[in-house]
Amino acid sequence: MLNIRKLVLKLMAILLIAAILPFNVKQAKAQGGIVVEEPQVAVSFGQSITFQAKIKSSIPIQQVSLLFRGINEENTRVENLTVSPDGFVSFTYDASLNLLPPFSWIIFWFQATLSDNQTYTSDPIRFQYKDDRFPWRDINRANVNVHWYAGDDAFGAAALDAASAGTTAINEFMPVSLSDPIDIYIYSNTTDLQNTLMLGGEKWTGGHANPEFGVVMIAIAPGAGQAIEMQTKIPHELAHVMLYRSLGDTYAAQPLWLLEGIASMVELYPNPDYARALEIASGDNSLLPFESLCASFPADAGNTFLAYAQSQSFVSYIHDSFGSSGLTRLTNSYSEGFGCELGATNALGTPLSQLDVRWRENVLGQNTAGVAMRNLLPFLLLLTLVLMVPLWGAIDLLRQRRRNGNKSKR
Ligand SMILES: [Zn+2]
Repeated sequence: MLNIRKLVLKLMAILLIAAILPFNVKQAKAQGGIVVEEPQVAVSFGQSITFQAKIKSSIPIQQVSLLFRGINEENTRVENLTVSPDGFVSFTYDASLNLLPPFSWIIFWFQATLSDNQTYTSDPIRFQYKDDRFPWRDINRANVNVHWYAGDDAFGAAALDAASAGTTAINEFMPVSLSDPIDIYIYSNTTDLQNTLMLGGEKWTGGHANPEFGVVMIAIAPGAGQAIEMQTKIPHELAHVMLYRSLGDTYAAQPLWLLEGIASMVELYPNPDYARALEIASGDNSLLPFESLCASFPADAGNTFLAYAQSQSFVSYIHDSFGSSGLTRLTNSYSEGFGCELGATNALGTPLSQLDVRWRENVLGQNTAGVAMRNLLPFLLLLTLVLMVPLWGAIDLLRQRRRNGNKSKR
């Protein structure tokens, strides 16, 4: 009985799909009122983007517009174009006034109103807004592409090796997705990278990942220190991309200490200055509370460094205490919309502030109960004084009374 009902439902579904399919095909054909020939995009990074094409149709064209936007942008730019008799159209966009992120993906399409008063839309075309100011060289393995312009062949190969090793390290904490390509752009100095980010309207933060585009941008100078720099910066930025790929839109809902902590944890060469920074801050009681590192990191360089050092140590502590599954529960909890403090309670049974205390005790060897006592000491002294003044008065009064009593006895 149940099986027959299932069969009938299945048949109905098949019939429904069969009914929809030809309709879709017809619609697609109806949109074909225009043909876009030889579409071309010329990018001059930070300056201009020139779009060109030939718009063809069987009946006269009344009007043509170019529409384009970054794939993650919500507003579409619309430009009316002048059409030559042969259908040629061209538009140059001023990218120095209207900044677009470096290596971001842009889609464009054309809309034309023909003499039948109908508006037809072409299929969208994607292109990448690449930084073309450097003679990039490329090397790739398994969907990981390394691009560099200073340094020899060995430099590129070493960067690719650091990426592979980083991917292996990341895989211990979270799923690694290489189904979409990853592009690692290595600038030879921070000034070049800073300029690129500035021309793209983005802020400088050391390394840089645009995880939604699968793009990593870092600055590494060829030379003696290149291996260490590659083994720290490349895995770190790759981790940001993988976190984004695993978390999607909820990447932005994660506390910054957690994102940076996980990314710092996969650096293959631990930063020796992190331990020193933690020791000093712990000693002079200037550690930053993790509640203050949820939405942003401090603006000044010293405290930014301390924030990274703390995040790396704190997330490692959480990983050691709760395992990779604990970290996954934590990211899931924040993805579900829990706040910074309660997300930890929900995932690990302990609020963030309490985890902070435990980390200080277990990793930094602080005696937080002792510290709390020391902080209370001035108040306790004051309290004693406040209580002692009336007490003394009372004792004095008693003494006087006794003395008077003795006198009267005499
Ligand atoms: Zn980072």
